[in-house]
Amino acid sequence: MKTWVYLFDEVSKAEKYAGSWEDVRALLGGKGAGLFDMTRAGVPVPPGFTITTEACNWFRKSGNFPSGMWKQALDAMKVTEKRAGKKFGDPKNPLLVSCRSGAKFSMPGMMNTILNIGLNDEVVEGMVKLTNNPRFAWDSYRRLIEMFGETVFNVEDEAFEHPLDEYKKKKGYKADTEMTADDWKQMTVSFKDVFSKKVGFDFPQDVYKQLELATKAVFESWNGKRAIAYRNKEGISHDLGTAVNIVTMVFGNMGDDSGTGVAFTRNPSTGEKKMMGEYLLNAQGEDVVAGIRNADAIEHLKDQMPKAYKQFMDITGKLEKHYKDMQDVEFTIERGRLWMLQTRNGKRTAKSTVKIAVDMAKEGLITKAQAVLRVSPDNVDALLHPQFDHDAMDSAEKTGTFFAKGVNASPGAAVGQVYFDADTAEEMAHEEKQDTIMVRPFTKPDDVHGMIASKGVLTSEGGATSHAAVVARQFGIPCVVGASAIKIHLEDRKMTVGDKVVKEGDWISVDGTTGKVFIGKIPTTSPTLEEQTELLTLLKWADEISARKDVREARAPGYPTRGLQVWANADYPKDAQRARSYGAVGIGLCRTEHMFFEPERLPIVQDMILSESSGGRTAALDKLLPYQRKDFDGLFEAMDGYPVIIRLIDPPLHEFMPDEEKLLEEVITMRVKNETAGLKEKEDLLDAIKRLHESNPMMGLRGVRLSISMPEIVEMQVRAIFEAAADCTKRGIKVKPEVMIPLTGTVKELEWIQPRLERIAKTVMEEKDVKFDYKFGTMIEIPRAAVTAAEVASHAEFFSFGTNDLTQMTYGYSRDDAERNFLITYQEQGILETNPFQSLDRGGVGKLMDWAIAEGRTTRPGLEVGICGEHGGDPSSIEWCHIIGNDYVSCSPFRVPIARLAAAHSALKHKPTRDVLVKAKKASKKKVVKKISRARAKSLAKRKKK
Ligand code: PEP
Ligand code: MG
Repeated sequence: MKTWVYLFDEVSKAEKYAGSWEDVRALLGGKGAGLFDMTRAGVPVPPGFTITTEACNWFRKSGNFPSGMWKQALDAMKVTEKRAGKKFGDPKNPLLVSCRSGAKFSMPGMMNTILNIGLNDEVVEGMVKLTNNPRFAWDSYRRLIEMFGETVFNVEDEAFEHPLDEYKKKKGYKADTEMTADDWKQMTVSFKDVFSKKVGFDFPQDVYKQLELATKAVFESWNGKRAIAYRNKEGISHDLGTAVNIVTMVFGNMGDDSGTGVAFTRNPSTGEKKMMGEYLLNAQGEDVVAGIRNADAIEHLKDQMPKAYKQFMDITGKLEKHYKDMQDVEFTIERGRLWMLQTRNGKRTAKSTVKIAVDMAKEGLITKAQAVLRVSPDNVDALLHPQFDHDAMDSAEKTGTFFAKGVNASPGAAVGQVYFDADTAEEMAHEEKQDTIMVRPFTKPDDVHGMIASKGVLTSEGGATSHAAVVARQFGIPCVVGASAIKIHLEDRKMTVGDKVVKEGDWISVDGTTGKVFIGKIPTTSPTLEEQTELLTLLKWADEISARKDVREARAPGYPTRGLQVWANADYPKDAQRARSYGAVGIGLCRTEHMFFEPERLPIVQDMILSESSGGRTAALDKLLPYQRKDFDGLFEAMDGYPVIIRLIDPPLHEFMPDEEKLLEEVITMRVKNETAGLKEKEDLLDAIKRLHESNPMMGLRGVRLSISMPEIVEMQVRAIFEAAADCTKRGIKVKPEVMIPLTGTVKELEWIQPRLERIAKTVMEEKDVKFDYKFGTMIEIPRAAVTAAEVASHAEFFSFGTNDLTQMTYGYSRDDAERNFLITYQEQGILETNPFQSLDRGGVGKLMDWAIAEGRTTRPGLEVGICGEHGGDPSSIEWCHIIGNDYVSCSPFRVPIARLAAAHSALKHKPTRDVLVKAKKASKKKVVKKISRARAKSLAKRKKK
């Protein structure tokens, strides 16, 4: 006969039948499995039994219990009665039970649960005597009738609530707490009346009938509307079915030797290793949660019930050891006897998550790897940026101060006064010492000073790889972009969403973590990395995991077998220093053009652009060279001993020129006013801007194309790089420069430019009489470069995936516009699962990368491969980079800690099996043997010759 019903202590029997613990959970449901597991761990769980999900599925198909099931349930009830020392339906010593749903995956509140089964007209009187608490007994009985009517027979709530409301009105009561024992007794009569009128027969007095009907109702609730909708949303299969847990009810309100409480085995907010909880004597569970009475701190239980307290501490200690995690427990003491009603891994803050993981690893409860896996990249993110206080944010949403939502471009919370241009934002921040938020439709390179001076940045246009987003992340400034509901009226110095208006100087709160913007100030909390010793420890463990030599399977020669390194995108020495302090072991991208925007350099750059001859350009560039040399010198010094990838100029030249419309206006005004001084220069500038105009600048004269058209710029840059490197070497700094050529589409481009640049490198080293290792490589940003990677690698000594452009060019989506337009619709409609500019599109862009690495390494097995697009700081993209064989990922310095953790997670998640490792070792041994035997053969041949 098949077993449909398992007693809580029959876990071995369930395991024998089901197999793995996963299968046990499928058979008994998550809640059931938890009760079985607690019973096995020696924890006093109220006795009971579970009817399996298989029985539920049978019932759903046939409309009947499977044969033998009910008999098994009745037998289990007998054992339960014995264990509880009570009898079901016996007024003198009644056993009451709850009938609880519980599927394999938690579906909180989606299915039915019925409490207090076993009460009837006689038993309730017995309960009155036994508890000496008639109010409680009658209240419990009326609750059972109500719950039974509603959940078993679908009677609408209103049918019970109406007479109760009328009764309270008549009595002049405002709350249920004012109801006396007699009142509840009278309500029981009314409820029974409602029940028989609505259901068609009287409330069942037969307690076994109650149990049977309740069990059927729980089975049926699997296919309730709520449950189906929840499963659809969560992707839970509709075939699993629910188990039914029949559990003895225990009562904490049976006098002063009874009580009930909730506790966390460690502090869920700070992680401190100290029990934290509350309890109430002579009370029911709801009383603690509802806060009707002031609960006592758990330590006091020690004085009030020393024996129960000691047992409670022993058991919770055992539970922590058993589950190897902080537990959130519910308990009841019934007449001095402790019962554990529930235990589960407790929810906690990011701070507490890290502390508990590190402490538990140090206590030997879990391994370092498990500790690393317990902490999510989001936890680290939350710890590194100021965050809005949760409750304050919740209440802000409720009080209508919510303003708009955009793309969460750079995490963290910022509160400040709004300014609509970079100069004013900077001036207010520096001179008036205000906290400012710079708000623009979008930002451009000449807005950077305003961004840096501000606490936060908000734009109504642009996406995750827009200028505002990239720069904000680089500098760790909270930023929301593409909040397209906002209309910015630059002339009127205000922005609006519907009838909500924010004027210049008004306070707003910008949440770069969620993308939400609020009117007014929301309080924040802000930690620093140095202060967070546990996080530093955890990240050190993460690095150790990634550095292991055999965490990756090398699928072909040249592939790394260690995990990913984390490098940083940094343009200035101070960014590089921050990157180092956050644990980066290289610079993966220095965008040199950012340096051209410095106020004293921009006019020189513009002069250079305006020059019509190569000689004129060189003269201007000669003036820029010392600046660039100094920049690079600082970078090499900050990254002493670590590689620094410097990218040669990338953007189209028009980006360095003033705004065309503004300039045209100025020229027209001067002409109208007949002002001649300076007019010619402005007209020349305007002509140059017109000449530089392109319809599609992102696909136009930029990157390597620009270098080939005007080699003087990159020649100056390479000279500056090598002069700085040589100077640093002379000062004893270990330099590892890597020169990166952007936007390559064909190897011919490299063939044209790279030898010229390498010649300069060699010349400088000869001039300075120093030698150091260096590399020349390229960005892979254009699909053609990825497809022809084998050719490209014949020149490039390293690849760095510029996935911002690679995504743009692969999808054909404009990285500057798509995110505020159709991309939102595409995500809403499920056409795109995620924003491909934030998280790598593995199926398309990712495949190109995979191909490019494989092809590149066929030509050059030692090819160094990295990523420096914004995806380099995104955990899912980092995982992909691990899978396809990147050597490193590079991201903004502020994301380095997140990336270090994500890299370790990838290493642990994709660890090769022992078999694979053994095979790989054998293969490499074979190679060595072959080599040795070849060498031997050669020497033998030589000897023979002699
Ligand atoms: C890229 O395209 O991914 C990249 C890093 O370059 P940029 O964002 O500067 O175009
Ligand atoms: Mg690019």
